[in-house]
Amino acid sequence: MLRRFDVHRVTSVAEAVALRQRFGEDAAIYAGGTELLLAMKMGVARWPHLIDVKPIGSLAQISASTDTLRIGATATHWDIERNPLVAEALPALAQLEANVANVRVRAAGTLAGNLAFGEPHADPPSMLIALGARVLLEGRAGSRSVAVAEFITGMYETALAADEVIVAIEIPLPGKNVRAAYVKFQILERPSVGVAALGTVRDGRFVGAPTVVVGAVDEMARPVPTAQFAGADARDAGTLEAIADAARAAVEPIADLAGSVEFKRHLVGVITQRACAALAAEAL
Ligand SMILES: Cc1cc2nc3c(=O)[nH]c(=O)nc-3n(C[C@H](O)[C@H](O)[C@H](O)COP(=O)(O)OP(=O)(O)OC[C@H]3O[C@@H](n4cnc5c(N)ncnc54)[C@H](O)[C@@H]3O)c2cc1C
Repeated sequence: MLRRFDVHRVTSVAEAVALRQRFGEDAAIYAGGTELLLAMKMGVARWPHLIDVKPIGSLAQISASTDTLRIGATATHWDIERNPLVAEALPALAQLEANVANVRVRAAGTLAGNLAFGEPHADPPSMLIALGARVLLEGRAGSRSVAVAEFITGMYETALAADEVIVAIEIPLPGKNVRAAYVKFQILERPSVGVAALGTVRDGRFVGAPTVVVGAVDEMARPVPTAQFAGADARDAGTLEAIADAARAAVEPIADLAGSVEFKRHLVGVITQRACAALAAEAL
């Protein structure tokens, strides 16, 4: 059962920051509410004050420059999956977003809320880390930008300070020859394992090393050490198996309803091979 709380609808980021300062731990930013209200209904969290940032028009914007995609904090998964700029600049992200949760969650839930909640079984963090995305924050002391890789610090833990609000996520656009792939495996509502891979394959070989980040299986998404695969034959089964070994070694899977530690480690290897094979399949 939901206990009584007040909703403060704000029309500027400055107002949201001021309320964060005023109410401290008694307040939470309220975006789509898909995690927040569920946690409150289940009684695992209680905030007497919710700061509704959806009326801040500027936070809903998605824009792209020649080298950066900027996704405002109230843009929903649904907004992102259908946005023509995202489809053009980063089709792999559009596809990832189209496969988050179900349409009801996608229509209300935001990318910023997904990152701020720090729930480990999430799709976007691995892809955003692989792309080098950053979270833009506004707080009492001004603005700052934190790499997604450093923003999520653990299970349900982030670098968000008590007075801060996420205003946007900025994603550097990969060069035109760089391919991105995201492959996941899921039997419950949320992913059991999700692997993001980024890289260029020319004449069957990786140009430099591919970037591989494993998500959803551990407390937080984990980058895989891949330097040794620079220039490797991307279509060779031995290369893919060796990258899969590196990925299995990079994670500490958590056993839960989706499977045991051993099963998840096995899945990490299989899904990593598929994500890396997708880079080679789309090669130049
Ligand atoms: C049934 C179900 C299935 C799901 N399946 C998937 C899935 O398959 N893959 C996946 O990745 N995710 C999945 N999710 C998670 C979903 O993506 C998130 O629930 C959603 O993105 C959270 O966004 P929200 O806007 O609803 O956040 P809210 O619930 O409003 O907030 C979540 C947290 O983020 C904070 N917050 C929100 N916005 C800001 C901001 N601008 N600044 C600072 N803090 C902020 C809130 O204070 C709160 O702590 C699922 C969720 C549900 C309920």
